[in-house]
Amino acid sequence: MAISRILIANRGEIALRIHRAAHEMGIETVAVHSTADADAMHVRLADHAVCIGPPAASESYLNHAAIISAAEITGADAIHPGYGFLSENAKFADIVEAHDIKWIGPKPEHIRTMGDKVQAKKTAGALGLPLVPGSDGAVSDFDEMREVAAEIGYPVLAKAASGGGGRGMKVIPSEDQLETLVKQAQNEAMAAFGDDTMYLEKYLGNPRHIEFQVFGDGRGNAIHLGERDCSLQRRHQKVFEEAPSPVISQEDRMRMGGIVADAMATMEYRGAGTIEFLWEDGKFYFIEMNTRLQVEHPVTEAITGMDLVREQIRIADGKDLSVKQEDIVFSGHAIECRINAEDPFTFAPSPGKIEYYHQAGGMHVRVDSGLYAGYTIPPYYDSMIAKLIVYGRTREGCLMRLRRALEEMVIQGVKTSIPLHQELLKQPDVLSGDYTIKWLEEWLAERAKAENAASES
Ligand code: ADP
Repeated sequence: MAISRILIANRGEIALRIHRAAHEMGIETVAVHSTADADAMHVRLADHAVCIGPPAASESYLNHAAIISAAEITGADAIHPGYGFLSENAKFADIVEAHDIKWIGPKPEHIRTMGDKVQAKKTAGALGLPLVPGSDGAVSDFDEMREVAAEIGYPVLAKAASGGGGRGMKVIPSEDQLETLVKQAQNEAMAAFGDDTMYLEKYLGNPRHIEFQVFGDGRGNAIHLGERDCSLQRRHQKVFEEAPSPVISQEDRMRMGGIVADAMATMEYRGAGTIEFLWEDGKFYFIEMNTRLQVEHPVTEAITGMDLVREQIRIADGKDLSVKQEDIVFSGHAIECRINAEDPFTFAPSPGKIEYYHQAGGMHVRVDSGLYAGYTIPPYYDSMIAKLIVYGRTREGCLMRLRRALEEMVIQGVKTSIPLHQELLKQPDVLSGDYTIKWLEEWLAERAKAENAASES
C-alpha cells in the first residue's frame, strides 16, 4: 500500500517543509508536538495533531514510545524524522520498521555504520572515498598514538568515534601535549556520548567544507545532486551555505559526485544522504556521512529543480529514483542564510514573542519558516527560526538578490542573525567566495576587537 499518512517526528521549519511536500503529493500529515509547541504553524496546518509530552525534548521529540503510540492512534503509515532529534537513531528506525510503519530514511544498518565514525571511515575507505590520513581505526594505547601521530605529522586531531557537533575533538600541536589533550578529549566524549573510543587524523590547516548530496533507491541505484559549500561556520555550526561551491569545477563535481554515487550504489544505500568532505589544495578528504536530510538541502533544490523531501517519500514507498544521473541539470546559483533568534554578534539566544513579521518575497526568494506575528519562540530548542534561500542565474546575481531579500525581512520582538548576514554580504572575501572553515571565526574575532577598541577610545 502506498503511503497515505505521514507522521512528522519533528518541529519548526523542517516539520512544515515535510508537511508541504506531503500535501503536494496528496498525503495526509500527523504533527506530533510538545506542550511548548501547541501553537506552532506545522501543528496548525497538519491534518492531525497529537501532543506527545512536555517541553523537554527527551520527553517529547525523543520519546520513542510516545511517537510510536501517536502513529498507531492516528493510523500513520510512515514516519519522517526530519533532521536532528531521532533522524540518525538506528534503534528508533528499527522500532518503526518493526511496527510495520515505513521509515522515511536510510536502512537502520546504514544509520548505525555511519553513526560510528571509525566504522564510517573504514566503510568509506573500502568504498573508494578519499580519506584524511590517520590511524587505521580506533587507537587506545598512547605509545601507538605517538607512533601514528609521528607518521602522519603534527598537528593531529584526536576525534571521538561517537562524536558529534564538534565535541570530543582536540587539535594536538606536538607530541609533548598528546597524552594530556587526548585524555581531555576522552573525558569530553565519555561525558557527552558515554564512549571514549578515539581515533587520530591529520589536522588540515585551512580547508573548505564541501558536501555531496546523494540519493539511493536501496536496491543498488544511486545518484548525486552535486555539492554544497558550507565553509562559513561558527563553532562547527553552519551559518551560510551555497551551491555550487565557488571553487569546484564541473569536472571535479562530476568526478567526485560519480565516486560518491558509485559508493552509495555499492552499499545499496536507501534515501537521502550527505557525504561531507574537507577540501584543501584541490583535494577532497572524507570526514563523515549524514544519513538524513540536511538543513541546507534547499540550495540543492534550487539549482536542480528537484524536491528532495518528495524524493525521500517516493523512495520510502519503494519507488525508483525519479531521475537518472544524466538527466540532472545544475543551473544557476543558490545561497541559504540561517536566521537564528539570537544576538547577531554575541550569539546569546533571544527567544520570545514575535511582535511583527514580514517575510521577504519576489522572484527566486524562498523562506522556510514557521514564524508568524504573535508566535512565541520557545526557549527549549534550537535557535534557528527561518531559512532564507535565494536563487540567481549567476553567483553575483544571487548575492545581489540576497542583499535585497535580507533588507525586506522584518522580524520584531526578538534579536536575529539578519544583521550578521547583512554585514557578511559586505565582506570582499564572502563576495568573491574566498573563505575557508576558519574564516568566519577569525572575522568575528577581528570585529569584536575593533568594537572593543572603538568603545575604549
Ligand atoms: P562532528 O560530527 O562533530 O560535526 P566532523 O567529523 O564532521 O564532526 O567534524 C566537525 C568539524 O571539525 C568539521 O566540519 C571541520 O570543521 C573540523 N574537522 C574535522 N576533521 C578535521 C580535520 N582532519 N582537520 C581539520 N578540521 C577538521
